[in-house]
Amino acid sequence: MSTDFAYQSSILAADSPTYDVGQVLTACPETGELLDIQYDWDKVEVPSSLKEFESAWSNRNHPLDYSGVWRFRNLFPFASDDQIVTIGEGQTLLQRSNSVAKYVGMNEGQLFLQYEGLNPSGSFKDNGMTAASTHAHMVGAKIAACASTGNTSASLAIYAGTTKLFKVIVFVGSGKIAYGKLSQALDYGATTLQIQGDFDDALKQVREVCQSAGIYLCNSVNPFRLEGQKSIMYRVLEGLNWEVPDWIVVPGGNLGNSSAFGKAFMELKHLGLIDRVPRLAVINAQGANTLYQLVEKQGLCWNGGNPDSTLIDSFYQNMDAENHRANTLASAIEINRPVNLKKCLRALEFCDGVVREVDDHEILAGKAQVGAGGFGCEPASGASVAGAKLLREQGVIAPSDRVVCILTGHQLKDPNATVNYHSGQPAPEFQNAPIVVENDFGKIMEVIDSIE
Ligand SMILES: *Cc1c(COP(=O)(O)O)cnc(C)c1O
Repeated sequence: MSTDFAYQSSILAADSPTYDVGQVLTACPETGELLDIQYDWDKVEVPSSLKEFESAWSNRNHPLDYSGVWRFRNLFPFASDDQIVTIGEGQTLLQRSNSVAKYVGMNEGQLFLQYEGLNPSGSFKDNGMTAASTHAHMVGAKIAACASTGNTSASLAIYAGTTKLFKVIVFVGSGKIAYGKLSQALDYGATTLQIQGDFDDALKQVREVCQSAGIYLCNSVNPFRLEGQKSIMYRVLEGLNWEVPDWIVVPGGNLGNSSAFGKAFMELKHLGLIDRVPRLAVINAQGANTLYQLVEKQGLCWNGGNPDSTLIDSFYQNMDAENHRANTLASAIEINRPVNLKKCLRALEFCDGVVREVDDHEILAGKAQVGAGGFGCEPASGASVAGAKLLREQGVIAPSDRVVCILTGHQLKDPNATVNYHSGQPAPEFQNAPIVVENDFGKIMEVIDSIE
């Protein structure tokens, strides 16, 4: 496939300009486009079937085989084993949920939830941060930085805090960050800069700061993060006994995940490790719907590696002219300028993907359904369930399809959102409000007796 991204790795095969894996680059110096990692698969030892990855489990005392990311390292072989930085990430579960299936309108047994909140820092970001930390370590970085709506900073901070390999500066926007996430960055010892602006502002600043101060940038412009995030799809396949589902539904913020998922399937197909590819559904919050607007309303597409840049530029110009800011309760996807937009277009093309938007009520209802029938998730993750429901209603997803919704973050990341939902007025559909009762035995018994 032709691409206008340049790619870096010492074992590169692309015909676009290539850079060595030892270089620190977050954009192609020639085109300014994002970099992407490409491998010369002829030089990589890849198992002949995905099932063979299960044998790594028999070696669980080996930290790299224990990691739910690195036991698949043959599928992103940019580092040697002794360079890899791991804290045991990726021990996550795929669970069938019949109550959520019912809510979404799927046949029993056909809907699965992939709980990425079970990672050490409580979000899927650890899958990518272990890879970025590995690269930072490979190039001898002393300081790493990121801008974050919360989870990226929590993840980067936990890698720095536990390994002490580098120091971390995180840039967060003001106001919107969920306390569960901010508390992690503080607790893990990251230097935390609260920029008086939103995420898009913080990202712009951190990119400039890293460039001029030689700090290692860990936002998802960092192509190594996406390499680690591919493992989420490997684990989904593993959870389905290596059968490919019909749909992967994922919330879209900076579009690193959707881009990584598409790349994972492109490579697995190329390697002959899967014979079909699932469809991809990327779900935006209505208040941060750049991808939805561009793809579904304005027809933006990958176009063989030449997406219409004029369309994208004029979209952003209008957004700036109107001073339009992203606004959703799902703070993890409150992003108007998704940095991985073009890579996501590639993923949508390869996976016959669709994009939808859902509003905050739908997001919170989806989240409440996950909580009521499973381990729970943070608001942004609820978008995948809300999106699956919408696609069912629209007849795009069939009741008999096999659907995997990615739950990107842990329920405890944003307790305010949850408590506000369950105690707010007017009462939302799935509210479970706390009952206020006097400090009196009789009154308490009255309430208990009134419960069915
Ligand atoms: C980062 C994040 C997202 C958005 O993922 P992208 O890869 O940026 O699209 C969604 N949900 C949660 C919980 C996140 O932390």
